[in-house]
Amino acid sequence: MSNPKSRRAQSIIKPDRDRRFVTEDNPFEAMMSRFDDAARRLNLEPGLYKVLRSPEKQIIVSVPIQRDSGEIEVYTGIRVLHNTSRGPAKGGIRFDLAVTLDEVNALAAWMTWKCAVVNLPFGGGKGGVICDPSTMSVAELERLTRRYTAEIIEILGPDSDVPAPDVNTNERVMAWIMDTYSMHKGHTVTAVVTGKPVEMGGSLGRKDATGRGCLVVTRQALSRLKIAVKGASVAVQGFGNVGSTAARLMAADGMKVVAVSDKHGGIYSAKGLDIKKVLSWTAEHRFLEGFPGAKSITNEELLALKVDVLVPAAMENVINSKNAPDIKAKIICEGANGPTTAKADTILEKKGIFVIPDILANAGGVTVSYFEWVQDRGGYFWDEEMVNERLVKIMSKAFDEVAAMAEKHSVSMRTASYMLAIDRVAAMHRMRGLYA
Ligand code: NAD
Repeated sequence: MSNPKSRRAQSIIKPDRDRRFVTEDNPFEAMMSRFDDAARRLNLEPGLYKVLRSPEKQIIVSVPIQRDSGEIEVYTGIRVLHNTSRGPAKGGIRFDLAVTLDEVNALAAWMTWKCAVVNLPFGGGKGGVICDPSTMSVAELERLTRRYTAEIIEILGPDSDVPAPDVNTNERVMAWIMDTYSMHKGHTVTAVVTGKPVEMGGSLGRKDATGRGCLVVTRQALSRLKIAVKGASVAVQGFGNVGSTAARLMAADGMKVVAVSDKHGGIYSAKGLDIKKVLSWTAEHRFLEGFPGAKSITNEELLALKVDVLVPAAMENVINSKNAPDIKAKIICEGANGPTTAKADTILEKKGIFVIPDILANAGGVTVSYFEWVQDRGGYFWDEEMVNERLVKIMSKAFDEVAAMAEKHSVSMRTASYMLAIDRVAAMHRMRGLYA
């Protein structure tokens, strides 16, 4: 591992071998193929390649709980630490029937690259419990959370593994984890999880952080493409936490948000939507459908709009080899995780579309989670202005670093973001050496 140049990775990196994820619409396949490509371009040593591809720790636990009926049910819980060379593992916990070890492994690796690209002192982790929370009472969810926490308690901790909310978990679940961990330690340890309620050590600005990060990197991309921020046209797919915040902040910044959508479809107005009014509408009616004064469009139509900026902020694989040829946006800011398949990447690149990749574009969330951890550990809390100011600084710097890497190696922003991330994690491994 100590001689990066002499031993080339080519002999080890055979992208078509050792593939567990094999279809276009598997986002983890997309992530791993990008990892392989970036590792090859970096001439990553074969030994390090093997280390970075392997999760450090995979824990599978039984989580027995008593249902409200009095019956005992046993669930399966997983926690994976992919790489902790740069700091404690950071990554969400999901409660879902679709949780598998493969998926958790891939999501944990994804977090390693995301944290490294914005240069946070964190590694990557992820966890989950295979369950259907929609069939469980709040009391059952609390018992599940506390027992899962107790089962994985040895790896949890502000210095080792710091979970956050993910699919079907929220700040209430984080509060239970924090309490359970603290009861075991005998004192309050707020920094063991992020995404907590503000009253118990959460950070101001966390809710808007991912959308705000999207705004920051979109502004920079517009500036590189010499498109004025004022009046730049934007279409946003997904009107949840990320999409609605990005739309609101972009509109407040002078951009013209012409279309937004949710899972039932979208709304369009060539002269720009009044996002404040759209937010009031969804607060009352939940979905966008029926919003007055705008034309209805489908999600597919939204993706193909002729706009300056397209923000896919809903789900994975929405831009794929079938619809990529129809995309007319000049910039794509990936608010969602994995919205573009690897095949679509090639098409978008040929069309000259500037893609701000997910591990950079939506890293604002984990960045403010990092601020939460820092504030909890320091016991000193910042106002929202300071949180936002520091978020802007980190996101802007990361964008510039990825862009510089892209220019240096004549690669896309996507490939450059993986190269930057892998380079940082690999550098840490080289400096630390291999513990025998
Ligand atoms: P959310 O549940 O708050 O919102 C999701 C939105 O997408 C909703 O408006 C929903 O109606 C819409 N949607 C669902 N299916 C759709 C479909 N088939 N077509 C169009 N729209 C659809 O979720 P969120 O927290 O905003 O997360 C969105 C994406 O961003 C996810 O990929 C998530 O992993 C990613 N992300 C979120 C954060 C965060 O801080 N919340 C951070 C990083 C990445």
